[in-house]
Amino acid sequence: MHLRSILIKTMRAMILERAGQPLRLVEKNRPRAGTGQIALRVLSCGICRTDLHVVDGELDQPKPSVIPGHQIVGEVVEVGAGASVERGSRVGIPWLGWTCGECRYCASGRENLCGRARFTGYQIDGGFADYAVADARFAFPIPRGYDALQAAPLLCAGLIGYRALRMAGDAERLGFYGFGAAAHVAIQVARHQGREVYAFTRPGDEKGQEFARALGAAWAGAAGDAPPGELDAALIFAPVGELVPAALRALSRGGTVVCAGIHMSDIPSFPYAILWGERVIRSVANLTRRDGEEFFALAPAIPVRTTVHAYPLEDASRALGDLREGRFEGAAVLDVSAGQSL
Ligand SMILES: [Zn+2]
Ligand SMILES: [Zn+2]
Repeated sequence: MHLRSILIKTMRAMILERAGQPLRLVEKNRPRAGTGQIALRVLSCGICRTDLHVVDGELDQPKPSVIPGHQIVGEVVEVGAGASVERGSRVGIPWLGWTCGECRYCASGRENLCGRARFTGYQIDGGFADYAVADARFAFPIPRGYDALQAAPLLCAGLIGYRALRMAGDAERLGFYGFGAAAHVAIQVARHQGREVYAFTRPGDEKGQEFARALGAAWAGAAGDAPPGELDAALIFAPVGELVPAALRALSRGGTVVCAGIHMSDIPSFPYAILWGERVIRSVANLTRRDGEEFFALAPAIPVRTTVHAYPLEDASRALGDLREGRFEGAAVLDVSAGQSL
């Protein structure tokens, strides 16, 4: 970090000024922790498909000039009044940034559905910056054994994959549609639970199929290919509505299609016969803090390993473009601390 930015307490940040345009690198004042909040020096920040939906304008209610990024790994540098997190500790900040705590969803353990919830990197500034502020109650301690780059994808890809897997019930044969950041973590959890995973990628994505097999997939092929057996559940990670009827066709009676993304293109109409037989279609929305506590206890026990592609903070738009085009296996992560000289 430049001497000037240390003296006048500024930071680098990538901001979204207008949907559909590249993020812009700016120098901004560092945020300070308010009551109940912590301020973090950002070490790394994972990149998620939801970030693409934000910058592309498919999620169209961002705060003005938002700093995207909701898989933040940081070191606590300031603790606001009433926040019970230790200074100097390493924490992760996920997508769920705040909930009301009062509505019927919050009161019944379903804070992921809170109508007043606010989300990191969307309605609250996120981690594509040197510093970030978060509500201390929504921060997770990062388990030992994970460096900042490795830990970042656990915060959304890992968590959402874990929640999606839970929605699949005790299905033995799972189909994963889209084998990116979330699937590459979820397969490790599923294998640990003794389930079989069938991986569906974009047609012709030999590298993705190889990657899935290397992580223990029983079979890998293109979406639309017939897997060797019927699926008990299908987890759709790709934002492609056509995959819903495709997955239904591959599903056994009583099976569930779980749509794990926050946005999806329209689902084409399909004959009732492929839903018949008590097949279920459902979505997975956000996460609860309980998901986080469970997953961050489980991940180091398996242990989940993440495959990470690091980019400098300034290259956030390039990383988003690579994600859109499927140019890497695993998860993209901004190595934010690499650009800081403290
Ligand atoms: Zn609520
Ligand atoms: Zn995400």
